[in-house]
Amino acid sequence: MPVERERLDADVLIVGAGPAGLACALHLSRLIAQHNASGAKPELSAENIYVLEKAREIGAHQLSGAVMDPRGLAELVPDWEKTAPLESPVTDDAAYVLTAANAWKLPITPPPLQNHGNYIVSLNKLVKWLGGLVEKSGVNLFTQFDGASLIYESGGIAGVMTGDKGVDKDGKPKDNYTPGYELRAKVTVLAEGPRGSLAKEMVNRLKLDGLNPQVYGIGIKELWEVPAGRIKPGFVAHTLGWPLDASMYGGGWVYGLPNNRVSTGMVIGLDYRDPRFDPHAAFQKYKTHPFLKRILDGGKLVRYGAKTLPYGGWYSMPRTYVDGGLIIGDSASLLNSQRLKGIHIAIKSGMLAAETVFEALKTGDASSKTLSAFPRKIDESWIKKELWAVRNFHQGFRHGLYAGLFHAGLQFVTGGRGLVDPMRTRPGHEEYQKLSGSVPAPERFKGDGALTFDRLTDVYHSGTRHEEDQPCHLVVADLNVCATKCVTEYGNPCQYFCPAAVYEMVQEKGQPRLKINASNCVHCKTCDIADPYQIITWVPPEGGGGPNYDGM
Ligand code: SF4
Repeated sequence: MPVERERLDADVLIVGAGPAGLACALHLSRLIAQHNASGAKPELSAENIYVLEKAREIGAHQLSGAVMDPRGLAELVPDWEKTAPLESPVTDDAAYVLTAANAWKLPITPPPLQNHGNYIVSLNKLVKWLGGLVEKSGVNLFTQFDGASLIYESGGIAGVMTGDKGVDKDGKPKDNYTPGYELRAKVTVLAEGPRGSLAKEMVNRLKLDGLNPQVYGIGIKELWEVPAGRIKPGFVAHTLGWPLDASMYGGGWVYGLPNNRVSTGMVIGLDYRDPRFDPHAAFQKYKTHPFLKRILDGGKLVRYGAKTLPYGGWYSMPRTYVDGGLIIGDSASLLNSQRLKGIHIAIKSGMLAAETVFEALKTGDASSKTLSAFPRKIDESWIKKELWAVRNFHQGFRHGLYAGLFHAGLQFVTGGRGLVDPMRTRPGHEEYQKLSGSVPAPERFKGDGALTFDRLTDVYHSGTRHEEDQPCHLVVADLNVCATKCVTEYGNPCQYFCPAAVYEMVQEKGQPRLKINASNCVHCKTCDIADPYQIITWVPPEGGGGPNYDGM
């Protein structure tokens, strides 16, 4: 029997309560308040803005390094310095090149990594605070609701179906079954973060791809409490080199926070060659370097998380508007991978989307003709200026670190153009080299339990929780490929790239079988991106599941 679903109609539906989605909701609510106060018609209401968030509470899935350029926030919340939860202004910054035993400090911190005027923040706390402002403005915020699928209508989109709750692992309704809602809206704004499941589907279906395919990095982070005096609050260091080799794109960081807390992590381009490379193990090894060890030794791991980030930049930006819909923030490739910063751009893109949607609501025309103002607004704003200057940055590193530094230098003096413009790229998963012959599987990293940890210990520190009896949210299109072709060609990279030990090859009746421990998933989306055959699709699990990045 077809399921009867309740239908709700909104003016605007924003999917994802991260910096971009919340900035869009907050700015739009203010534009509406000014419009109504002026007596202009039609009267609009902030209550008709709905924000959907799949996490159990606002901010729980928010993870970032995070050193924030305050430019976007200052435009959104003019008195932000008085009330925003900032960990510390950056007081000192440095860049190091690591070899296995040494850390060489660069005499001058490269301009993209200079952070004076920026702030170390917890994205989780910042987003919680923004969520509070949005709630106060009258917007309806719904947590624990995922956007399961888009409603397509006349070549565009008309809203979202939220996921059913109370479905067992075989897809049958349980006693607590509640069907998802049919949420219709004049404008649906996709602000799902990197590799949003709805944005991915819409970009493919409506052929909205940018010039280059999107390429990603994985960020892995730990928050520590360390003995007093190890690192000054506000000190920011970025590192290049060890333990990554020169063919790889990435680096590490360590930031000093108040109360003897430390943020440390690595970002690694998901376009490496070795299919058995393990980003989590690389980060654990990173912490054993004397430069990190002297800070962390004797301290305590507090929290762990992992998330992907879009590296493609300007040339990977999809078309950001369709009839009835916009794509914003990380979902729209709006991140500066050279500066490793996206929060300020996400916020600004949310504000520009709000201005575009406001016009659509006033005129009653939410067609792509009206919504095409969004990319024009981006072009006219500082977002374009910032991203245009680094439009070929990540592509320049495709042939390794040294070629990348050469290209980056040329691009710096030519305003981003460099030797070739546009510089093309291909999806990261196409960079894997096939295994030659039968190569024994590398031994899995176990950790010492004090400075370094195995993945399950880290997952425990991510606060991840899912309803166990639900359909698997990691949909593998053909398990046979995993058990046959992938074993010999790539050695099952999912076992290595997943930072949460979700994928395991087990032997069953003498045959390899892929076992999926879905409840460990920290929602980083790496598997959806890095699977060599592109047969893994990450779909949202039951709303409320996932990590809890409290204080991250
Ligand atoms: Fe990330 Fe996929 Fe592993 Fe989940 S299953 S933690 S999305 S790689």
